[in-house]
Amino acid sequence: MSCDFLALAVPGVQKLSPYVTGKPIDELARELGIDPARIVKLASNENPLGPNPRVLEAIAAELPELSRYPDGSGFQLKAKLAERFGLRPEQITLGNGSNDIIDLVARCWLAPGRNAVFSAHAFAAYPICTQAVGAESRVVPAIDYGYDLNGMLEAIDEQTGVVFIANPNNPTGTWIGPQALENFLERVPAHVLVVLDEAYIEFAEDGELPNGLDYLDRYPNLLVSRTLCKAYGLAGLRVGYAASSPRIADVLNRVRQPFNVNSLALTAACVALDDEAYLAEGRRVNRAGMAQLEKGLSELGLKWIPSRGNFLAVDLGRDATEINAGLLREGVIVRPIAGYDMPTFLRVSIGTEAENARFLDALRVVLDQ
Ligand SMILES: *Cc1c(COP(=O)(O)O)cnc(C)c1O
Repeated sequence: MSCDFLALAVPGVQKLSPYVTGKPIDELARELGIDPARIVKLASNENPLGPNPRVLEAIAAELPELSRYPDGSGFQLKAKLAERFGLRPEQITLGNGSNDIIDLVARCWLAPGRNAVFSAHAFAAYPICTQAVGAESRVVPAIDYGYDLNGMLEAIDEQTGVVFIANPNNPTGTWIGPQALENFLERVPAHVLVVLDEAYIEFAEDGELPNGLDYLDRYPNLLVSRTLCKAYGLAGLRVGYAASSPRIADVLNRVRQPFNVNSLALTAACVALDDEAYLAEGRRVNRAGMAQLEKGLSELGLKWIPSRGNFLAVDLGRDATEINAGLLREGVIVRPIAGYDMPTFLRVSIGTEAENARFLDALRVVLDQ
């Protein structure tokens, strides 16, 4: 006799729909019967610079140790992060990407009977991780696609365990400034953990976004999550971290799997954190690419949401499904975001100059069809 293991799953999990990732290059190449090298992928907010050569060299040197378990405490990486950002190692929790951090937070502070507060159009990991542990998602309507922080404060109650804030938010690119963040932190009840997700902070120029780490001393209920998968170019290795009060870190580290960050990722992260030049080049390419896309989109008569990330949400003014299909036929992969309640938008990651040009050309062709 066989059982239906979906029906047997815990209630929150039964209702989950799988996260939709960017279409892999090889998959589209097979479908179109063309060389993968001819495909442009601007769908997952990856770093268009490609891997950092210094990281590649360090990983190669690490390979002979591959039969050993990684350092489960992440001693060196924590020491590096502490030195780099003026933290103490006991404030840091390492994650297998910062998605892992979000998942850990949900498992520690959410459960049936509790709720998480976040905005409409917020990063998909928040509802997924909340629902997976059987907690309620309190989704607060957005204002012009940005966060309604007052509305979010009003949604908080005794049962609220966590508030998720992505700054900037993915997929909208919208952000909050230092004053708004401070007002918010000041008014959030002390029992609510505020997760400030700064996955794209390194793309911002100095002073363009508040630095969450600056607020940790004043707000013991604040957790700042960051990743090395975006600006540092380590998406395939999966490494991120949280900075918080030592108490919060202690709880997370009880639940964290001891070897959640693999040895190559630990080594790569240490090297990547030391390479300011790679980050600066990434910022430069991102700024130039953002301007290139904005110019190209306005020439096509299209609107977009101003963004502080390495991506733009473009409004096609009608259901974007057909246009996305047309772009795929042209060998360009971007991200439909109907799942974020934005059916007329496509999210395009900022690429190299050549990749951005390919996207704009393809979009022109598709819109003319
Ligand atoms: C990409 C992203 C992350 C994390 O990605 P990881 O690859 O798991 O580090 C976290 N938050 C937001 C808002 C993101 O867009």
